[in-house]
Amino acid sequence: MLATQIDPTTGFLDRYSCLKVADDLVSRVRKAGQPLAALWIDLDRFKQINESYGYLSGDSVITFIAQRLRENVGSRAEIGRVGADEFVCLAPNFTRANAERMASELMHAIETPLDIGEIHLRPSASIGIAILESGDATFSFLERADRAKISAKNQGGNRYVVSGDELVSGRMGTLLAREELAVEYMLYNALETGGLRLNYQPTVGSDGSILSVEALMRCTVNGKVISPVKFIPVAEKTGLIVRLGEWSLLEGTRQARYLLDAGVRTKVAINVSRAQLLDSKFSQALHAALVCANVEPGLIELELTESLFMDNSKTVQNNLRSARDCGVSLSIDDFGTGYSCLANLKDIPACKLKLDRTFVLALPHDRRAMSVVKAMAHLGKDLGMTVVAEGVEKKEQLEMLWDLGVDGVQGYYCAMPMDAEALFSWLKGNR
Ligand code: C2E
Ligand code: MG
Ligand code: MG
Repeated sequence: MLATQIDPTTGFLDRYSCLKVADDLVSRVRKAGQPLAALWIDLDRFKQINESYGYLSGDSVITFIAQRLRENVGSRAEIGRVGADEFVCLAPNFTRANAERMASELMHAIETPLDIGEIHLRPSASIGIAILESGDATFSFLERADRAKISAKNQGGNRYVVSGDELVSGRMGTLLAREELAVEYMLYNALETGGLRLNYQPTVGSDGSILSVEALMRCTVNGKVISPVKFIPVAEKTGLIVRLGEWSLLEGTRQARYLLDAGVRTKVAINVSRAQLLDSKFSQALHAALVCANVEPGLIELELTESLFMDNSKTVQNNLRSARDCGVSLSIDDFGTGYSCLANLKDIPACKLKLDRTFVLALPHDRRAMSVVKAMAHLGKDLGMTVVAEGVEKKEQLEMLWDLGVDGVQGYYCAMPMDAEALFSWLKGNR
């Protein structure tokens, strides 16, 4: 058997020895039932350094970086040089969390500015992490770390990616993480098998009246409920939101009709995403839903975020105008998050302002949050809008919100989101 070979430039194991050590470590940790992590480190832009300064300078850079790696890793892991600018760290007893911490530390150590003669660099690296799985052979284990490293490079470098979290091309050609692909698959499944539902959560006015009910989408696949916080962003990335949105327009308007027929005249608020408004067929879908449900537009409200109102694209503006012209009302959702701007409010054709729940969360003790809510409530009212606070969970918050001048509240304290049947009983009982 060949003796362990050392790379002369770095003092690390050479490629062959690194593979051999990896093999030994894999059998050792398997026997001991311990975890093992591999970090595949690849310097960013090293080819340019070699090409602009020559190979000798390239070697000096490698020597310095190797020094940083050695100091940082210490005795925690074996290190091998597996390519000109590529290193593998094999860390026994490292879980995913340990490996991610080490990757962050290494990236931090590598990026300290480097001055070698005429070379002034801010080096950075892309790191792929794999944690040994039960079915892994040594080769596939290292290959997973290498593939994760390639994904880190493809995302612009100077980052780490854990094997299994790599971005993969989705149906629309967008890059999605594997978990997102699984969600996309479940959404298609739900659309085809009737796994979508709307739940409704009332908004209550200060006089106890019901201002509206908000339609909130729920997705169930094989008995498993996925939260909209998870599936809406995926649907937005893949374009699936247009189909989901059409479905919620149809279902939400149908619910308004159903309540009207049952003698409970209630406005239904439907959430609308950017991708829907960027679609020139949005207003067609909205009108079709109103016609199908035979519902007057005044009973439907669309919830949009502020940035959408400020979007100058022709399609978005036409879709908004068309909704407003036919009598559907518009409301600003999650106001106060992102890049909200009070000055914009005067130009937005919305009749309702929904203050994000982060403000309510800080009540009743946070005096600054109190002042902000008060100012927004007054400004909204001055502009002729109904101001609603979202996420009210406690009696003290509710009482303070009335004092601060909001017109309506929505939150678990008043009513949880509920299915159509429960909503009907709630509305009947509440009245
Ligand atoms: P949103 O439009 O701001 O909806 C309010 C969210 O706050 C809902 O979460 C609701 O269940 C939750 N909520 C209500 N009261 C409370 C409370 O007292 N405390 C807390 N912590 N949360 C409360 P949900 O149903 O998980 O929906 C999350 C987001 O997903 C929605 O935020 C909306 O942006 C989006 N979404 C839901 N349904 C649809 C839909 O049909 N289409 C589109 N485009 N987006 C939707
Ligand atoms: Mg909403
Ligand atoms: Mg909201």
